[in-house]
Amino acid sequence: MVGERGQFPDLLRGWVWLVGAGPGDPGLLTLLAYHALQQADVVVYDALVDEGVLDLVPAGVELEHAGKRGGRPSAKQRDISLRLVQHARAGRRVVRLKGGDPLVFGRGGEEALALADTGVPFRIVPGMTAGLGGLAYAGIPLTHRETNSAVTFVTGHDVGGALHTSLDWDALCRAPVLVVYMGMKHLEPMSERLRAGGRPPDEPVAIVSRATTPRQHVLETTLVDAAADVTASGIEPPAVIVVGEVVRLRAGLDWLNALHGRTLVPDPLGERGTG
Ligand code: SAH
Repeated sequence: MVGERGQFPDLLRGWVWLVGAGPGDPGLLTLLAYHALQQADVVVYDALVDEGVLDLVPAGVELEHAGKRGGRPSAKQRDISLRLVQHARAGRRVVRLKGGDPLVFGRGGEEALALADTGVPFRIVPGMTAGLGGLAYAGIPLTHRETNSAVTFVTGHDVGGALHTSLDWDALCRAPVLVVYMGMKHLEPMSERLRAGGRPPDEPVAIVSRATTPRQHVLETTLVDAAADVTASGIEPPAVIVVGEVVRLRAGLDWLNALHGRTLVPDPLGERGTG
């Protein structure tokens, strides 16, 4: 059932809801996600889920870290899926809480397939992905009429953890704006590959770390300097990397720092005459 006016569907016994927790700020949870947390018997959560979101889980609800169980580290995807099935079969109301959106680079699809395969009923509650919420909190529009009418979300490493060789790098070199997830480890080779494919070395890049949390940190740099600047600044993952002209707009749109008294620059694209 899709929620009717003023009503939310109930999380029933034996069901698993795959819920997006958003990038950090608890205010970015959907109402349906919040409702799910209020109804759960157990919440199985990932390391990326912000503590502020976990604070919204009522006392008495079992909180289970997907990566650690009974003190033992165990992050195997198969184990997590199995665990969800076990909880559901025990008749519990299960929330599987994942950072950002469950289906964006989050293996939510794999978990949902495991539930489908075993006949466990499930619902997917989308969440705000880091590449959307994080950019908004950094004052960087994903699209802007004068700069881009397309955005490419891409992951910086493949299943084995290496720089993605199967990616269509030529297409990435032509894409007007890239939003890179899990890209911090491979920033230098990625930057080299993009420059070799024709992206300008001085193209603006922003690294948005711990987006939408009190520890959000944004580093503005260029494609050629990105890796060195990341090292020098000590900026840490999780971070999304934004490559493209939209980054320049931040000079006029960094509302979060403006709240803390820094000044904004009027119309940063105006002088450059882009568009
Ligand atoms: N499902 C998540 C993505 C999981 S992959 C989502 O939709 O957002 C993990 C990557 O997400 C991290 O390496 C980082 O690139 C990004 N990420 C997640 N949370 C973030 C945050 N608060 N700030 C910046 N990047 C974040």
